[in-house]
Amino acid sequence: MIPSLLLLGLLGPVLPALAQSRTSEAQEAQISDPVQECTPYSYSPVAAAVASSAFPPIWTPVTALQPNDSAGKAKFASINSSIPNISPKGTMAGDFSNFTPTYPATDPDCWWTFHQCVDPKLSGLQPDIASVSEPKTLGYGFDDGPNCSHNAFYDYLTEQDQKATMFYIGSNVMDWPLEAQRAVSDGHQICVHTWSHRYMTSFSNEGAFGELWYTLQAIKLVTGLTPTCWRPPFGDVDDRIRYIASQLGLETILWKFDSNDWKVGTNNVTVADVQQDYQNLINNATSGAFDTVGAIILTHELNNFTMQTAVEMYPKLKAAFDHIVPIAVAQNITTPYVEKNVTFQTFSQYIANQSASPPNSSDGGSGGSSGSGGSSQSQGGSAAAGLRVPTTLALALGLAGFGMLAL
Ligand SMILES: [Zn+2]
Repeated sequence: MIPSLLLLGLLGPVLPALAQSRTSEAQEAQISDPVQECTPYSYSPVAAAVASSAFPPIWTPVTALQPNDSAGKAKFASINSSIPNISPKGTMAGDFSNFTPTYPATDPDCWWTFHQCVDPKLSGLQPDIASVSEPKTLGYGFDDGPNCSHNAFYDYLTEQDQKATMFYIGSNVMDWPLEAQRAVSDGHQICVHTWSHRYMTSFSNEGAFGELWYTLQAIKLVTGLTPTCWRPPFGDVDDRIRYIASQLGLETILWKFDSNDWKVGTNNVTVADVQQDYQNLINNATSGAFDTVGAIILTHELNNFTMQTAVEMYPKLKAAFDHIVPIAVAQNITTPYVEKNVTFQTFSQYIANQSASPPNSSDGGSGGSSGSGGSSQSQGGSAAAGLRVPTTLALALGLAGFGMLAL
């Protein structure tokens, strides 16, 4: 997964000659050629922030806060002495071979990577969210975006009147700010997925803080919103990292079912394996495994394959579960950001509106579906949804080349 992410991140420097002007989310959302979608552009708020050294280099693991970041330093100083005294683990690439031999089998740090612990041992920390309390319900989310070629996929979700939770990487937000804005415009929920997408338990306290802090700052800069949720890349979290996240107002969200879509092309994982993983979830759902407690699925907007597979599997998931909802909706969190101008529907409101307005086969340029989804904005909302052209999904192949070749 990391190689393709890095390649996407590197597209900017590789293709500067193709840079073009693109200044609004509405403009960006109408581009249907994935090569054009993924042509780098300059967005002045990001350019200005980068010029003032407000952010670390994109895709580079954070080791220290920026020298001129007085707000970040003040916040870190306010929590540093209370961070639990737990040593960093392994390497940023996830090699724990020098750590696990001496790590106690009792898992004192509630280290998810060790035995999928989600109930912190440290008092005062909330359990991770790995499932949803609503029965026969799927908490629906996608990691690793915003992907520059995601328009066809987001168009499909809009056509289905389906909202989801998007776990965005800070470096991708800086590279593709208008694509990040589209999530808000479409009514999706945005959560944090760290700055450089490395194994978080390997970081120093300040580095881990910075990975979350600068992703929060990037999302705030671009969307005006401050998320209250995050997902650790690879699920790699322990009580030290949970504590740092909690002090930044971030609830830790994991999953109960891994589609393994991101692994295709690595470790001998095949397309058929991923389709079987999806089918296993569907079989579990139809056989009653989630009749008491719902599930959260791990999927990705990482590349064309993961997005295309999500589209192909959506009707089957829809048939297998009674409800598919963003995670905040499943939690009945109606104000999922620090800023209260974006509100989400309660679970009961969301499912009532979904059953009242069946999915559009074509949005026909009416824009009428924008009021029936999971969220509303009281300010600054984009009216772009009604302008989008119904989509065929064949189009994302252009970027697929980049994504798949890198794996
Ligand atoms: Zn990820």
